[in-house]
Amino acid sequence: MFKAREYVKAESLEQAWQLNQKKSSVIVGGMMWLKMTNLTKGTIVDLSGLGLDNIEENEEEFFIGCMCSLRQLELHQGLNQYFGNIFKECTRHIVGVQFRNGATVGGSIFGRYGFSDILTCLMALDAKVELYKGGIVELAEFAKMPYDKDVLVGIRIKKDKRKAAYITQRRSSTDFPLIACCVGKLQNKWYVSIGARPGKACLVILDQGECSDTLELAKKAAGQMIYGDNVRGSGAYRKDLAVIYTDRLMKQLEGVE
Ligand SMILES: Cc1cc2nc3c(=O)[nH]c(=O)nc-3n(C[C@H](O)[C@H](O)[C@H](O)COP(=O)(O)OP(=O)(O)OC[C@H]3O[C@@H](n4cnc5c(N)ncnc54)[C@H](O)[C@@H]3O)c2cc1C
Repeated sequence: MFKAREYVKAESLEQAWQLNQKKSSVIVGGMMWLKMTNLTKGTIVDLSGLGLDNIEENEEEFFIGCMCSLRQLELHQGLNQYFGNIFKECTRHIVGVQFRNGATVGGSIFGRYGFSDILTCLMALDAKVELYKGGIVELAEFAKMPYDKDVLVGIRIKKDKRKAAYITQRRSSTDFPLIACCVGKLQNKWYVSIGARPGKACLVILDQGECSDTLELAKKAAGQMIYGDNVRGSGAYRKDLAVIYTDRLMKQLEGVE
């Protein structure tokens, strides 16, 4: 069981960051993951009073505050309209509505979980992470960074007119994904993100160049990642699925049956 001695509702990001510098402190999102651990902490730092539970949209970008719930992502009209419903698709299998009302975007991204639907989806959109001290960092870079004591403020996604599509395979509807694929298309570039391999999502950017064969491109993208075995499936099976789904998503974005 997770235990903590003290609870602080932060009054500013600076205060949250200062408190979090102690080894025994931890920032909390929805605590849906943390509560499953056996950790004992000194202070838990709650960001829910800082107005970071909104999705803001302007002409250039979307900003998703770290305390937004996965349910807000799933239902947000602007995001879903702009990106072909991928936010609905990448959240709808995560446990259940009650759970998605609690789990936050900040916790999902800061955790950098190997099974993460959210990380896989946002990576193909070239999203950026806003860190209180670290500034704005490419999500694909952030995923590789070691865990530190910074505070994740939110996610920024440019409205660059890219098209995107998302799919997962699961052994049962609300299980962790066996493989997760997201493909973005911007002009002649393909952004392919594959997660649950079972490692955390990686991004490959391919130039369409002369090649119009999506299967060839899918093999090239999926071939650049490492796949592993776990109880849900073998690495070889995952790699085959990654090729098939990437090809399928590319065809969907090209409007090919
Ligand atoms: C049973 C179960 C099934 C799940 N299935 C899936 C699934 O199929 N697909 C999927 O994508 N996800 C799945 N998840 C993960 C879930 O969606 C959330 O990602 C997870 O619960 C973390 O979100 P949270 O808000 O609960 O974070 P918390 O548990 O509060 O925090 C998680 C971590 O992030 C840190 N953190 C939180 N917010 C910040 C911040 N703003 N700045 C810095 N650090 C921060 C915390 O310190 C902690 O280390 C599952 C989780 C559970 C428990």
